[in-house]
Amino acid sequence: MRQYDVAVVGGGVAGLTAAIYAAKAGKKTAVIEKQNRLGGRAISNKKKGAYFNLGGHALYHGDALATFRKLGLSLQGNKPSIDGYAIWKGKLLTLPMGVKSLLTTSLLSWKGKMELASWLTKLGKLDAHRYDQISLREWIEGNLQDPMVRNLFYALTRTASYVVAPDLQAAGPVIKQLQNTLQGVLYLDRGWGAAVDELEKKASEHGVQLLTGNKVISIGHCDGAVQHVHCEDGTPIEAKNIIVTTPPAVTHQLVPDAEATALHTWKEQAIEITAACLDVALRRLPKPKQQFVYGIDQTVFLSNQSRAAYLSEDGAQVISMIKYQGQETCPEKDLQELEQALELIQPGWRDELIVRQYLPKITVCHDFMHMKRQENPGPAVQEIKGLYVAGEWASHGELLVDAATASAKRAVQHILSLEGKEKDGW
Ligand SMILES: Cc1cc2nc3c(=O)[nH]c(=O)nc-3n(C[C@H](O)[C@H](O)[C@H](O)COP(=O)(O)OP(=O)(O)OC[C@H]3O[C@@H](n4cnc5c(N)ncnc54)[C@H](O)[C@@H]3O)c2cc1C
Repeated sequence: MRQYDVAVVGGGVAGLTAAIYAAKAGKKTAVIEKQNRLGGRAISNKKKGAYFNLGGHALYHGDALATFRKLGLSLQGNKPSIDGYAIWKGKLLTLPMGVKSLLTTSLLSWKGKMELASWLTKLGKLDAHRYDQISLREWIEGNLQDPMVRNLFYALTRTASYVVAPDLQAAGPVIKQLQNTLQGVLYLDRGWGAAVDELEKKASEHGVQLLTGNKVISIGHCDGAVQHVHCEDGTPIEAKNIIVTTPPAVTHQLVPDAEATALHTWKEQAIEITAACLDVALRRLPKPKQQFVYGIDQTVFLSNQSRAAYLSEDGAQVISMIKYQGQETCPEKDLQELEQALELIQPGWRDELIVRQYLPKITVCHDFMHMKRQENPGPAVQEIKGLYVAGEWASHGELLVDAATASAKRAVQHILSLEGKEKDGW
């Protein structure tokens, strides 16, 4: 029988972050991960010398970046330029994101240009929380006049959040995310796997036990308190506190009698967001200027991430394309749309192809800040003492990986607060 103060189920960004903070606070901590490697959806794979994330990933100026910096991660990489293009009616037009591009683009009328210029200056100062209770569509339709400025905002918010559901999406959190995006994003050298490697190293340095290749099959509780983590390999793990970072439906399945707990509400209210992702490594770019493209009348996005980060050993150009998926998806059609968009942006790309990766339907988040949410999940599962949830779905307003790190820290803070040992400055 292994005994821990804190057992963390799942070794993605949320699990590793929770484990590092728990161990730093003096808790004997273990991470139990079913895969043979850590990182979850933040891993990178090296194919023919090119580093591919699981679909295009960018680090925003949010909680994850701040947390990683506080933990001392080196985070090698750079901010990409946002000089780019918009796809509108099958054509590439200048994306109006700065003064010059705003003046020269044919995407907007003069009136539209004035309106966008005014929004680009005031957006950063907006108190996003004021719009937490209204949908993104209500905010856009109620505040923006020009139809193309509206289209642009739908495209920008979609890319910042991966969500194509303006009627459901709460406006406040996505406006906050857009504000973070406009400060510039970070593309990481060698992909997000490099950050995972550093998190793993930090966890080891702080004495966290990393138990990979070990699937958790249930979480035992008795008399209203957690007791054990049961793993597939049969090793019982006893823990005073268990932080579960698996998706809401899996978490529900792992906990006996979860129907009688808040886990049930969190599972029922969850709305999953998926994307189709095409990543390609090209020997050279047929059109070197066309590296950053937003679909306006199509829910696609392209970024040549190697314009800002070291992503290949031999100078190959590593491009990420995303098709943001709504409720209805068709992997074959999505691939066709992505390939056609790539042909428009980089004609003849197939002749330059070194290697590709296609993920037809990957879960970007298991839940997000939407209007049908009854409550924000966690950190504690009140009905079972010592049981906590974290992960990108356990958001209290943050999006994507920022929700993963913020929820992880909330869970550890809760454990410490019960002992009167809450920490400042997380
Ligand atoms: C295509 C795509 C693009 C993205 N782009 C961005 C972006 O640009 N910016 C951004 O901020 N975020 C982005 N994200 C989101 C980001 O990758 C995630 O928010 C983050 O990686 C989630 O971390 P997590 O720890 O919450 O979950 P996960 O990474 O899913 O970790 C959960 C872990 O639990 C493990 N597990 C599951 N069941 C069990 C079990 N029974 N026993 C033991 N272990 C188990 C899994 O194997 C996994 O390792 C993107 C995601 C995708 C898919």
